[in-house]
Amino acid sequence: MAEERTPNFIEQIIDRDIAEGRWGPAGDSSVIRTRFPPEPNGYLHIGHAKSIWLNFSIARRYGGRCFLRFDDTNPAKEDREYIEAIQEDVRWLGYAWDGPVRYASEYFEWMYELAKELIAKGRAYVCELSAEEVRQMRGTPGEPGKESPWRNRPAEESLDLFERMRAGEFPDGSKTLRAKIDMAHPNLNMRDPVMYRIVRKPHPHVGDRWCVYPMYDWAHGLEDSYERITHSLCTLEFENHRPLYDWFIDAINEGREEKIHHSQQIEFAKLLLTHVLLSKRNLLAMVQEGIVRGWDDPRMHTLRGMRRRGWTPESIRAFCEEVGVTKYNSLIDFGRLENAVREHLNAVAPRRMGVLRPLRVVIENYPEGKVEMMDAVNNPEDPGAGTRKVPFSRELFIERDDFMVDPPKKFFRLRPGGEVRLRYAYWITCTGFEADPQTGEVVLVRCTYDPQTRGGEAPPPAPDGTRRKVKGTLHWVSAPHAIKAEVRLFDRLFRAEQPGKATGDFRDDLNPDSMEVVRAMLEPALGPEPASDEPAWSDGIRRFQLERHGYFCVDPDSTPERMVLNRTVSLKDSWQKAKKQ
Ligand code: ATP
Ligand code: MG
Repeated sequence: MAEERTPNFIEQIIDRDIAEGRWGPAGDSSVIRTRFPPEPNGYLHIGHAKSIWLNFSIARRYGGRCFLRFDDTNPAKEDREYIEAIQEDVRWLGYAWDGPVRYASEYFEWMYELAKELIAKGRAYVCELSAEEVRQMRGTPGEPGKESPWRNRPAEESLDLFERMRAGEFPDGSKTLRAKIDMAHPNLNMRDPVMYRIVRKPHPHVGDRWCVYPMYDWAHGLEDSYERITHSLCTLEFENHRPLYDWFIDAINEGREEKIHHSQQIEFAKLLLTHVLLSKRNLLAMVQEGIVRGWDDPRMHTLRGMRRRGWTPESIRAFCEEVGVTKYNSLIDFGRLENAVREHLNAVAPRRMGVLRPLRVVIENYPEGKVEMMDAVNNPEDPGAGTRKVPFSRELFIERDDFMVDPPKKFFRLRPGGEVRLRYAYWITCTGFEADPQTGEVVLVRCTYDPQTRGGEAPPPAPDGTRRKVKGTLHWVSAPHAIKAEVRLFDRLFRAEQPGKATGDFRDDLNPDSMEVVRAMLEPALGPEPASDEPAWSDGIRRFQLERHGYFCVDPDSTPERMVLNRTVSLKDSWQKAKKQ
C-alpha cells in the first residue's frame, strides 16, 4: 500500500485527480484503473517488466484495479504461443490482474459501430488510395500533405463501402477507412490517419470473424475507454499520438447522448539499459539466427531468459522501483540490474561449495575410508538459515586456479610447501604434486592436514609462543561424495554499451565469450533432490551461492544423472572493474 516514499510524477497527477474527484467521488482512490496492454507478437522483456511493475504497483498503491489486456489488432504478427507465455510471465513477475484476461479483439464490434458513427458525422471516409499513395501524399513535417480524392465523397457512400469492406467484398489493401482531420496539420499523426485496413488473416483469438482490422492508433484509446481505464500509462513515443486519441474520443462524443469514457494518457520514459537489446524485432532475429539458443536463453533479457538465468522476480521489481519513473529517456547501467539481483540473493540464497575446474587433492595423513561431517554455515546474512553437514575425506577437489607450482608474490593460495585453510575443515600443507609428463599440467596435489585445526580453527601456539598463520581459505568438495555438474557461466551478450550503435548492426557487437561450460564438482547438498533446509522460492527454482563464484540456479536441463547449473550473477561486477582500469 501507499509506501513512505515521495510520489513519482504520475502518482502526483493521480493524487490530484483523486482529491478533485475527477474519476469518481472526491477522495475515493479505489476508482483508479490501469492496465498492461501487450501486443501478443513476442515474449516480454525487461522493458515490459517496467511497465508491468508501474501499472500494477499504481493500482495496488491506490487500492484500484489493473487489467491485463492483449492489444491484438494485428493478426499478421500475433500468435497463441505469445498469448500464453505473456500471462505466465506476468504471473511469474508476481502480479495478478483483475478479472479475466481482456482482448482488444473482443471490442472490435463496438469499435466498428463507433467508426460508422464517425462516418455518419462526416468525420471519416473510405479511401481507395494504396498504402504507398497514402504515404506519398502525407507530406513532411515542413510541408502539408495532399488530400485524398475520396476525402469528400458522401457519408452514405463511405458507410456503404465500409460495410462491404467488412463483408469481404474487396481485396486486401484495396480500401481503407481514414479519419477526416487535417492534411496540413503540423502533427503528422493528424493527417487523415488510417483507421481500418482490409487483411485476410486468421486472428489468434477471434479466428476468421474479421477481414477488416483496426489500426493501433484508432484502437488503443478505445480499448482504454471500453475498460474505463483512468490513467493510460505509455512510453514517450506516444506523446504526439495523444492529440489523435483525444480527437477520436471527442469526435465520437460530439453530439452523442451516451458519452464514452475518456482516459487520461500519461507518458513516461522507456527503460533503456546498457549492453542489452530490447525490441521484440531484434530479439526475434537473435532467436531465428541461432545467436542464442531460444527465447529463454539465459543470456536474453526476456523475462523467460532472466527466469532461466535464475534472476528473481523480487529483484526485478526492486530494480524497477529503484530506477523509478521519469519524463526523460536515460540509459541505465546494466550493472544496476545485476546489483539488484545480488542484493536479493545475498539475503536469501543458501551458501554451498562447488569446484568449477576441479583439481584432485590427496590428504596423505588422513585415514583412508574415514569421513567426517563438517558444520558449514548456510547463510552468514541470515542466522536463522542454520548450518549443514558437509562430508570431508582423504580425497578432495579444489579449484585448479587455487594451486600454483611457482606462484607470484601475492599468491596466498596453495603452493608447494605452503599452508592454507580449507573452509569449515582443516589447515593443509602441500607436500608435493604430480604433473602430466606430456603437457606439464598438474593432475594431483599431495598434502598433509593438521588435526588440531578442525573447523578451520588456528592451531595452538608452538612451545616458543609463535603462531602459524595462513592467508588463504579455499573451498573444496570431497571427491567420493561429489555431485557432477555441467555449469554454464554467462557473460554479457554484447560488448558495446549500445549494441549496434557504431555500425548499425548489433551483430558487430556480440561478445564471443558470452557462454562458457565447465564440468564442475559440487557438495552433496546440490544433488537433484532439494535439501530439506532449502528456502522456498516464489517460482520453485532452486538457487544458491557457490562460495567465491557467485549465485547459481538449477537449469531445467538437469536430469537425475547430471545436474546443470546456470551462473545467475557473479559476486562482483567485473565490468565495473574493467571500466576503471
Ligand atoms: P518492443 O518495442 O520492445 O518490441 P512494444 O512496445 O512493441 O515492445 P508492446 O507489447 O506494445 O511492446 O508493449 C506493451 C507495453 O509495454 C506498452 O505499454 C509499452 O509502452 C511497454 N513497454 C515496452 N517497452 C518498454 C520499455 N523499454 N520500458 C517501459 N515500458 C515498455
Ligand atoms: Mg510495439
